[in-house]
Amino acid sequence: MKKDWSKLGIMGGTFNPIHHGHLIAAEFVRDEFKLDEILFVPSGKPPHKHAGEIASPEHRWMMALLAAGTNEYFSVSSLEIDRGGESYTRDTILELKEIYGGRGKGDFYFITGADAIAEISTWHKKENLPEIAKFIAVSRPGYKLDMDKIDPLFRRCTYLVEVPALAISSTEIRERIRRGRTIKYLVPEAVEKYIHKNKLYQEV
Ligand code: NAP
Repeated sequence: MKKDWSKLGIMGGTFNPIHHGHLIAAEFVRDEFKLDEILFVPSGKPPHKHAGEIASPEHRWMMALLAAGTNEYFSVSSLEIDRGGESYTRDTILELKEIYGGRGKGDFYFITGADAIAEISTWHKKENLPEIAKFIAVSRPGYKLDMDKIDPLFRRCTYLVEVPALAISSTEIRERIRRGRTIKYLVPEAVEKYIHKNKLYQEV
């Protein structure tokens, strides 16, 4: 992290697996909001999800490292994985504020999929969230994040950014692997090799 940072992007997600849509979204947001760095934070145990088809936190973290390593503005944190238990965004942002030089030093931008942001009013201790970060909902073109349905608490601190590459989805990638289809160019080459080497996502 640069010493004189003022805006940190936190890219939250399950990343099961990370793909080019995530990387392009992070880069577009970094550029548009003039962020100093983007920290990818793979969820340990995502709230509201059963373990079923989620690769282990260690595999998802390793794939994020392989994917983010080619961009000087990207880095990866194992903070949610190390914390264990459910991964609550509020806890993550507050922990990062402590790590990055104390509260109030700079602005934090939490970036994730628009489908997830649409549910933000159900998140843990949501009342505190607008005080500690801004929220960027990234979506594929044509997706409508109905701001009228977003809790008024969040309307002023939530932004929607359309990213064409988000037509790629982790669900589709897992499905293709199960059917023995190619995933070349959907994920970085190093991630593709890692998935095959570790035989990830071959079964439901
Ligand atoms: P999800 O339900 O797996 O994903 C919802 C949609 O958003 C999917 O289309 C997904 O596409 C997309 N998406 C997820 N992360 C993305 C990213 N970083 N960039 C672009 N698209 C993304 O969502 P989730 O992964 O469980 O949750 C997203 C984030 O919100 C996580 O950091 C999670 O911890 C946080 N969250 C917090 C709470 C809470 O604090 N209580 C509750 C829910 C979620 P792909 O499948 O292709 O990624």
